Amino acid sequence: MSFENLGLSAEVVRAVSDAGYERPTPIQEQAIPIILMGRDVLGTAQTGTGKTAGFTLPMIDILAAGRAKSRMPRSLILEPTRELAAQVAKNFETYGKYHKLSMALLIGGVSFSDQETLLDRGVDVLIATPGRLLDHFGRGGILLNGVKILVIDEADRMMDMGFIPDVEKIVSLMPPLRQTLFFSATMSPDMRKLADKFLINPKAIAV
Ligand code: AMP
Repeated sequence: MSFENLGLSAEVVRAVSDAGYERPTPIQEQAIPIILMGRDVLGTAQTGTGKTAGFTLPMIDILAAGRAKSRMPRSLILEPTRELAAQVAKNFETYGKYHKLSMALLIGGVSFSDQETLLDRGVDVLIATPGRLLDHFGRGGILLNGVKILVIDEADRMMDMGFIPDVEKIVSLMPPLRQTLFFSATMSPDMRKLADKFLINPKAIAV
């Protein structure tokens, strides 16, 4: 299997080849065509499997058409830690270098006003930790009504860190008609129950 056969655009395939990847990893092979079709995904995959590119690459192609409105991000990726959020942002930069997608990173330790300036310009991809995102929402700086793709990444770590109530609050602020991608390193019955709250007829994938 090659990246060309997964349904990605020539630009994304070129960026991937620039990054030095020769072929998709198993999670990428499974996830990319399903995400491009618009389906929800219930993914069991650890870090290190190529999971991030598995959702980032198709998102770039889906978001390439359309334009963001001020303070209304078109997609949202929730990460449990600043480090993971920053890593995902780096991935978007690498794989999206032939696209003009705008991105904002909402994590603690950075001034609110700098982040608000980015949100004002309109954001295609918002990458955030739950607490910081809710802080912005509380300040009236962000609307989630325009989110078409939601990624809940590292859901088991979110649970361990006590972030699930924040995640549920965030999801309640979003339109029900959206594509949701849910990833966890493990899929216990509790995790499955949680995923069922967010997903509609998901395709389950596991590596
Ligand atoms: P992740 O599981 O998303 O944290 O990715 C783990 C590492 O694998 C990252 O350093 C990526 O740069 C790298 N990677 C992702 N996809 C591929 C691929 N298809 N071939 C080789 N390396 C990859």
